[in-house]
Amino acid sequence: MEQYDAIVLGAGGAGLMCAATAGQRGLRVLVIEHNDAAGRKILISGGGRCNFTNIGAAPANYLSANPHFAKSALGRYTPVDFIALVEAYGIAWHEKTLGQLFCDGSARQIVDMLLEECAKGAVAIALGSAVRDVDHANGQFTVRSDTGTASAPALVIATGGPSIPKLGATGFAYDLARKFGLKVVEPRPALVPLTLPGSDALFRDLSGVSTEVVARVGQAAFREAALFTHRGLSGPAILQISSYWRHGEPVAIDLLPGAAPGWLAAAKRDRPKASLAAVLSAQLPARLAEALTERIAIDGAIGGATDKALGEAERRLAGWAFQPNGTEGFAKAEVTVGGISTDGLSSRTMEARRVPGLYAIGEAVDVTGWLGGYNFQWAWSSGWAAGQALGER
Ligand code: FAD
Repeated sequence: MEQYDAIVLGAGGAGLMCAATAGQRGLRVLVIEHNDAAGRKILISGGGRCNFTNIGAAPANYLSANPHFAKSALGRYTPVDFIALVEAYGIAWHEKTLGQLFCDGSARQIVDMLLEECAKGAVAIALGSAVRDVDHANGQFTVRSDTGTASAPALVIATGGPSIPKLGATGFAYDLARKFGLKVVEPRPALVPLTLPGSDALFRDLSGVSTEVVARVGQAAFREAALFTHRGLSGPAILQISSYWRHGEPVAIDLLPGAAPGWLAAAKRDRPKASLAAVLSAQLPARLAEALTERIAIDGAIGGATDKALGEAERRLAGWAFQPNGTEGFAKAEVTVGGISTDGLSSRTMEARRVPGLYAIGEAVDVTGWLGGYNFQWAWSSGWAAGQALGER
């Protein structure tokens, strides 16, 4: 049996960052990964360019049963720190929009950088090796995997969440956490398209139409593009709001964000002979304008409609209520909301309070970022915090 100082389960962003950090502090580290390659989610992220951080990443951009948990790690390993690493490797990057930073070249550069960082710390990486079982006795974690058995006084759960199983994602982290007495906050697919029932078929006919909206669920609101799909709704605004959505809740969509109150009554005075569809299509894609007009009972020229009716139409357009009947599930979800409860973890070190030597990082933990580079930043920050703590043991 091979002996290490720390064993990291999962060679995703969080696991690689943790292993490199601990390895470079002199620890003998083994990473065990069941895929044949490290960082598969990084490779396909950001359309192949990896949205590796968000320059504005702050605790408010994360969902968790404990909104304070992410503060410590995000505050100690920041987007600026990761950018410095990226620049040290000469990787060119650009800001696309809303603080989202992407590689100019390819996501492969980020994986190569992390592997090089691991190599600097003499980290051993066992690929194509699924973890089968973990035992804990006499202060040692013994891990049986497809490629052998290894033991260490510290074990890091970095096997992510169940989003996109075809990339190797599993719920293994939750099984292991439960085995060690940690709680798991119910995992749900997040950053995922929403599906609409048959009664909203009219909107499904708009498949491919995209427009800027404000999407709202409860207090959460995102102003970005929404996309009608053959199954329902997608696009950044919908992916963002999906993380906050729960079965049975409506999603309210402002189809004309920024329109001044009374704009339809003003349009009636300016263009009394115009139809509602014509007025709407000045600001919305024509197919959407027609579909909305079919559902709003204002026929003919808007000059013939009362200001009250126009006011009601305006309010409906500002808060169009969709009643999704589900999501496209873990098969299409970019991330998972929920996961290993932060209750049992130290926010500084990611170590389990009741199981010394056991750590959990990255998406496996109940910390989920918005769309836009926030999830990788959490992987880097939590991985770094645990790696640093391992070095201090
Ligand atoms: P993962 O990257 O999921 O790594 C976990 C690793 O553990 C995997 O390699 C998995 O194969 C391995 N594993 C699982 N079970 C076992 C087992 N039993 N034995 C051994 N190994 C196991 N976030 C952003 O910030 N920016 C983006 O541009 C972005 N784009 C994305 C695009 C897509 C299509 C997807 C799906 C996600 C995207 N994300 C993005 C989210 C981001 O990829 C994740 O939040 C991040 O990868 C989580 O890192 P992690 O290391 O915690 O988990």
